[in-house]
Amino acid sequence: MRKMVLGMLLVLLCLPFYGTTAGAAGSFKDVSTGHRAYKEISYLAEGEIVSGSLTGYFYPDKIVTRGEAAAMIGRSLNLNGTKRSTQFSDVGSQYFASGYIQSAVEANVLSGYKDGTFKPDKPVNRGEMAVLISKAFKYNFGGTLSGAANALITRGISQGMADGSFGTDKDIIRADFSVFLARAINYKLRLTPVVSYDMERTVTVDSLNVRTGPSTLYPRTGALSRGTKVEVAYAVGSWAFIKSGNIEGLVHSSYLNAPINAGNESILSQKMIVIDPGHGGTDPGAMAYGLEEEDVVLDTALKVKALLAKTPFQYKLTRETDKTLSLNQRVAIAKEANADIFISIHANAFNGSANGTETYYYSAYENPNTADSKLLATKIQNRLLAAWNLYDRGVKHGNFHVIRENTMPAVLAELGFIDNKKDNEKLASAAWRQEAAKAIYWGILDYYKEKGLDVSNLY
Ligand SMILES: [Zn+2]
Repeated sequence: MRKMVLGMLLVLLCLPFYGTTAGAAGSFKDVSTGHRAYKEISYLAEGEIVSGSLTGYFYPDKIVTRGEAAAMIGRSLNLNGTKRSTQFSDVGSQYFASGYIQSAVEANVLSGYKDGTFKPDKPVNRGEMAVLISKAFKYNFGGTLSGAANALITRGISQGMADGSFGTDKDIIRADFSVFLARAINYKLRLTPVVSYDMERTVTVDSLNVRTGPSTLYPRTGALSRGTKVEVAYAVGSWAFIKSGNIEGLVHSSYLNAPINAGNESILSQKMIVIDPGHGGTDPGAMAYGLEEEDVVLDTALKVKALLAKTPFQYKLTRETDKTLSLNQRVAIAKEANADIFISIHANAFNGSANGTETYYYSAYENPNTADSKLLATKIQNRLLAAWNLYDRGVKHGNFHVIRENTMPAVLAELGFIDNKKDNEKLASAAWRQEAAKAIYWGILDYYKEKGLDVSNLY
């Protein structure tokens, strides 16, 4: 009895407020099943990545400190959390997160201050959180706050604030940090639960457990036998999110035949696709039979956008409303967004009898993108022909500003002739425009497939 009391006392003395595992998964007194972060907090608690107080409270609205963030990230990545001395003057070996802080610094996920301190009690703001998660999960974010915010938004890990900003300077509370961390670990919790499985590996043990989270604390969803081929989406520290047949989940990557290059996480999510609906605002484009080109191409572009939104691709439209844009501005938007490909959508007009679909690319000896532009144009043209079955005017060289001046593979598709009765019927129909949007989307996938990316689950 005396021994037990002493033991309890030691536990109370040594364990920090948030370092305990008391408060089992989903049983925090202040996180009801109706709490907006209930699912994510429960998921993390299940793997002891987050924990509550000894008395069973999670304090979801409390601001996260750098020390706590280090511990949560460290547990997610299975870093060595053994308390020990650190390189920082203000983090002693007995500090609850000393091990995680030192490990995270060694793993290049966190850094201290120039004066040799770590400031473990300093609150973490949303911008710092985005950088921390981007570094922990090896996202390609360009080392900037906006790049990190964008990396989280495009993966469906976070949204901006209600005012449209990312709220970079706002302190982050435990509930929100938990939501973002859980989504980074398990893509099924993301706003858009889609990842691409870009890498293939082979199981090298007799039986490899697949789990719902990145540790043996998480339940098993299946087991894979030696030699089984798995597709890998991304790494979570020393674990990997994999798929094999109908089994999906996390495995320890040391039981796969080759390491997971975490920087490879979804190559697709690093590709920015810019869609350019031609004309708009003061420039209606071609007009006939009561139809204006600016409206037809905007609606088609918005439909392409809706399809891209369900993929890991990044995407941007040069305009999403009826507004005036110069040709220069369209090119500037694509360059600014660091577009991987550019697709301008138009409808033709001539003399009423000319008809059909054509797709242009800019061909010049000194243009490094000519071959890829032609490939993209060909893929889109073929899909458009299959979708609308109009006359095939072919894939052609065109000296148009938006495809000539751009610095990435760029094409301009003319869906059909607005002043030709037969073509006009398709351009005027929302249902047919949906088919054209699908064709452009499939053309994009066909292009990336030919470039060697695995887009098979996106068709
Ligand atoms: Zn046009």
